[in-house]
Amino acid sequence: MNDGKQIFDTVIIGSGPAGLTAAIYNVRANLKTLVISGNTPGGQLTVTTTVDNWPGFPNGTGGIKLMMDMQQQVRNLGVEIQNDNVLKIINNQNPSTPNNNQETIINFQIELSSGKILTTKAIIVATGAGAKWLGLPKEKELIGRGISGCATCDGMFFRDKVVAVIGGGNVACEDADFLAKVCKKVYLIHRRDELRATPIEAKRILENSKIEKVWDGVVEEIVGEEKLEAVKIRNVKTGENKTLPIDGLFVAIGRIPATDFLKELVEIKENGYVVVGKNNEYPSMSSVPGIFAAGDCMDEVYRQAIVAAGSGAKAALDAERWLNNLK
Ligand SMILES: Cc1cc2nc3c(=O)[nH]c(=O)nc-3n(C[C@H](O)[C@H](O)[C@H](O)COP(=O)(O)OP(=O)(O)OC[C@H]3O[C@@H](n4cnc5c(N)ncnc54)[C@H](O)[C@@H]3O)c2cc1C
Repeated sequence: MNDGKQIFDTVIIGSGPAGLTAAIYNVRANLKTLVISGNTPGGQLTVTTTVDNWPGFPNGTGGIKLMMDMQQQVRNLGVEIQNDNVLKIINNQNPSTPNNNQETIINFQIELSSGKILTTKAIIVATGAGAKWLGLPKEKELIGRGISGCATCDGMFFRDKVVAVIGGGNVACEDADFLAKVCKKVYLIHRRDELRATPIEAKRILENSKIEKVWDGVVEEIVGEEKLEAVKIRNVKTGENKTLPIDGLFVAIGRIPATDFLKELVEIKENGYVVVGKNNEYPSMSSVPGIFAAGDCMDEVYRQAIVAAGSGAKAALDAERWLNNLK
């Protein structure tokens, strides 16, 4: 089924800060633009309470409100946001493009979970990345009520409180280091007895007396109803169990970019991030001409809303230029 036989200039996959910013730029450039929202309209910020580091709000703003306003802004500019999921992209591009006949160029077809098929000249993938969670009971319910996947984002809410970080890699160490500056005490819970982080990062953590290392520890239970109260930890070597009363738990055991559906088509790193930046003319382009990527699905370093929004703007500008050069 073709969705009304329309051909879009850009279809943006994802409705977080990256996708919605891309939509604002593309529609204002007069491109026929569509956003596919995915299962989380508004993206990751909709699972947090307050966002303190989005410029323009002297007292911070609610994550849900920020993203609902952003979606409304996109709709007001005339872009439809379809509640659907992308299952697959089919690349029907003529290998000889660009050519002089705009009508024959293109085309990607996008299969949606509703069964619809969209046709578009360019695609911006802005599908984000989720925290890898522990998968324990109560974990999901307590995200935003003591449990977080982002120390830079939520650390300030735990000023002078006791928190724990789970993980042993660079991200966990950076999180512990950051939290030690604002919190009363930080536990670093790691399932092994040495860190996987780079030596410099690990040294900083090992020498920080405010960070108590819980070696060989696995969190087996989350305690708390309305908010997080404690975690139960088992020592994998001795079998000993203990309960750690904490106010905050930061899960830093990795991120999973939502890029599975792209694997057959574009170059993806081993850890799931989309590879961009190989084409100097279009820095946000993926390995496939016409497919661009923005936000957390291509950024394993910054993982911040403002950075995602900025990269959404860049991808939209790149896509616009690429489309213009096809003519
Ligand atoms: C709890 C929490 C608190 C945070 N707090 C802050 C903060 O205070 N400040 C800050 O700067 N950052 C914060 N972050 C990080 C910030 O949310 C992310 O960096 C940002 O949302 C990334 O934006 P994005 O648009 O790349 O992806 P996301 O926001 O993850 O959006 C991805 C979008 O893609 C869609 N999608 C995924 N797969 C598909 C598919 N197959 N088809 C269609 N759509 C799909 C999803 O439904 C979603 O709409 C926080 C993150 C979390 C988890």
